Amino acid sequence: MIDLLRANDPATGFPPSWYADTCALPAPRQPLDGDRQVDVAIIGAGFTGLNAARTLAEAGLTPLVIDARQAGWGASGRNGGQVCSGYNKSQRWLEQRLGADTARGLWDLCEAGKSRLRSQVAALAPDANYKSGIAHGSLTARDFEDEKRDADHLATAYGYTDMEVLEVADFQSVLRSPLYYGGTIDHGAGHIHPLRLVLALAQEAEAAGATIVENTEVTAIETGPHARLTTPTGTVTAKHVIIAGNGYLRRLSWRYAARVMPVNSFIGATAPLGNRTGDVLGADIASADSSHVVNYLRLSEDGRLLFGGRANFSHRFPNDIGGKLHARIAEMFPQIADVPLDYTWGGTLGVTMTRLPWISRLAPQVYIAGGYSGHGVALSGMAGHAMAQAILGQSANFDLFAKIPSGTLPLGPYAQGPMLSLAMAWYAMRDRLGV
Ligand SMILES: Cc1cc2nc3c(=O)[nH]c(=O)nc-3n(C[C@H](O)[C@H](O)[C@H](O)COP(=O)(O)OP(=O)(O)OC[C@H]3O[C@@H](n4cnc5c(N)ncnc54)[C@H](O)[C@@H]3O)c2cc1C
Repeated sequence: MIDLLRANDPATGFPPSWYADTCALPAPRQPLDGDRQVDVAIIGAGFTGLNAARTLAEAGLTPLVIDARQAGWGASGRNGGQVCSGYNKSQRWLEQRLGADTARGLWDLCEAGKSRLRSQVAALAPDANYKSGIAHGSLTARDFEDEKRDADHLATAYGYTDMEVLEVADFQSVLRSPLYYGGTIDHGAGHIHPLRLVLALAQEAEAAGATIVENTEVTAIETGPHARLTTPTGTVTAKHVIIAGNGYLRRLSWRYAARVMPVNSFIGATAPLGNRTGDVLGADIASADSSHVVNYLRLSEDGRLLFGGRANFSHRFPNDIGGKLHARIAEMFPQIADVPLDYTWGGTLGVTMTRLPWISRLAPQVYIAGGYSGHGVALSGMAGHAMAQAILGQSANFDLFAKIPSGTLPLGPYAQGPMLSLAMAWYAMRDRLGV
């Protein structure tokens, strides 16, 4: 099995990206040195793990966060920055499977996640630059009908009136691409510079009392009255464990590997567009669309188009990340086809069969969350917070998250590359047929 913690990125430091070039990157923290006993050990220092650490530290505990690389090195520091509303399934879908009350509870959790993130940006990382608005483009007339029905349902059943429906001409005056039949703008969603936020969260968790050790991979977990974690440079004995390795976590739990698969996604940043930014977007909002492999984009603060638009299941990054991204940009925005990509990078996220997160308990004292399937910027912080709350004796939010149906992968943890891709396409087709 390919080692996702090392296969696609430089051996040390943060992967090169426009984000890394526009941040003050911290020096690595010390690795674990020797054997430790703690109340709570957290594996993974991304949005999930750091939000859990902060909640626990603010309650007076001294959690130990262990990262195989550096805090913010994973998907949290290199994603599309879109702070989405809800889940990767509509509320109507959730209501049918889980009932209206649970669906409502899950919606409220996501709303709380968005609001939590906005407060964190305001208080800890104003330079993460939260801006509101995500456009959702419909690639077919049928997608547009679904989009309108969902917007209407959110307004009538949830009182969520931030969705604006735009017919084709109006939509194209915002997202200047000929590909769309119309779409919505979700004014209650938004976008950020994610690396700046996750780095600030790490500092804040430490200031509150957490300890972070880096370049320390947890290679085994033994559960029992106390859990015991093994790393190359020491062991950790903990009363509670939170596992927050998301797409990079494969070997520690077979149950997790049977539900959450690693999928690579790629982003390119064009050269600054200067006064041509308006040729792409008529407002400073992000955009995503109804394609199965979503095209997602936004403008950077220095006027580049940050465009994500391809995925692969083979675990290895392709040699030419930029070629296909650029072709996709040229198809969507022929008017900027001449603009080169200055940066390209990839990252690994966790995806489940239902494209809903898996948030669960592996043992009475071991919590795990991942598989946010491209909706993790808002959801992962809330999942981390909910797991920490459960450890602190308030499990209502965690119990609600644990009701989400994530499904198991065909062949479970043995599922690999092309087979996974096929399975996902099959699932997407079933979705569209509504079966
Ligand atoms: C290219 C890309 C674009 C994306 N765009 C969006 C978007 O626009 N909006 C959105 O909502 N979501 C998006 N996502 C997904 C989102 O980034 C993730 O859902 C979210 O960041 C998950 O956070 P996390 O803390 O759970 O995982 P991560 O941020 O991946 O952190 C996991 C950490 O665990 C560590 N780790 C793993 N295994 C071990 C181990 N055994 N021992 C110790 N440490 C370990 C890793 O080193 C890593 O630092 C995107 C993802 C990618 C890759």
